[in-house]
Amino acid sequence: MTIEYENLFRVNEPYFDKFRQKFEEVLQSGWFILGKNVKKFESEFAAYNDLKYCLGVASGLDALTISLLALELEKDSDIIVPSNTYIASILSIILAGHNPILVEPDLNTYNINPALIEESITKRTKAIMVVHLYGKPCDMDPIVEICRKYNLFLIEDCAQAHGAKYKGKIVGGFGDLSGFSFYPTKNLGCLGDGGAIVTNNDELHKKTEMLRNYGSGKKYHNELIGLNSRLDEIQAAFLIVKLEYLDLINMHKRELASLYLSNLKEDFIKPAIHDDFFDVYHIFNIRHKKRDELKEYLKKNNIQTEIHYPVPPHKQKALSFLSHLKFPVSDEIHNTTLSLPVSTIHTRDDIYRVIDLMNKF
Ligand SMILES: *Cc1c(COP(=O)(O)O)cnc(C)c1O
Repeated sequence: MTIEYENLFRVNEPYFDKFRQKFEEVLQSGWFILGKNVKKFESEFAAYNDLKYCLGVASGLDALTISLLALELEKDSDIIVPSNTYIASILSIILAGHNPILVEPDLNTYNINPALIEESITKRTKAIMVVHLYGKPCDMDPIVEICRKYNLFLIEDCAQAHGAKYKGKIVGGFGDLSGFSFYPTKNLGCLGDGGAIVTNNDELHKKTEMLRNYGSGKKYHNELIGLNSRLDEIQAAFLIVKLEYLDLINMHKRELASLYLSNLKEDFIKPAIHDDFFDVYHIFNIRHKKRDELKEYLKKNNIQTEIHYPVPPHKQKALSFLSHLKFPVSDEIHNTTLSLPVSTIHTRDDIYRVIDLMNKF
């Protein structure tokens, strides 16, 4: 039998009865935008993250874009962002009217290398956007210190890291504003698009709240140039159901990851583990020189894998203005990384089957 990389029917199947009940409730209420489900989810997800505020928005990309807009920075400010990320982090900076300044990752953690940030800071630098890639938190202490030293805003892209912790503190609370995505494949995924912005800052929260709704605080009174980016009632209702299981989802993925970590042979470069980093393994990747051959070998043996990501942002056609820059660490990761099955649909036996095959490669 094929071991799929992911299966969104089976991921959501355990919640179908509860989803049907929620759907019926929303249908009967006749209230579909910014109602009591969005409010309830916002208060529960804020509490989950140990923060004062959560604001539901339409997507992870919007969560990041709106966060940057709320800072009301001078146009064309420089924003530092990792060169090794999903393109959405970089797009949000461009959409908000600023310049992405790419900084190389650490080859062990795949996250932004704090030691390389300071050399990229200029007078035009106004903020750092960190990305907790694959569900592993960034090394936050030195980054928070740099933000303090240079008076920079800090935005966290938590789209892959719901529930991840750095030195015991949950991600999302290190930055001025943090963005989450509830795209169906994420650790906390809805049944469509969704996102959220979390913060402890009253003023920034108020601004983001206006920005998601046409820049309006009071109906038909518009204070800012805003967007239409609201989380649907129906998605919020589904998210209320799933949030209760987020810790179990994360524990399941961590358990599967631990099997890979202790049983895969040394030929494969495994993700770094450290007591300071509570990784939620949105993605479990390994690296190997013969990545494409390995992927093909696993496919022939009925094991599906993915590549996150095959093309780095600076080599994307859309970002051709970055193509003259060199990011060899990022290139190395993109050329060698392979994502292995690590979903709630997988059992320990599935993972042992992947391991056995990989160890024979
Ligand atoms: C998924 C993702 C996003 C964007 O989220 P959407 O909800 O798809 O807009 C942003 N950053 C990272 C790192 C992501 O993985």
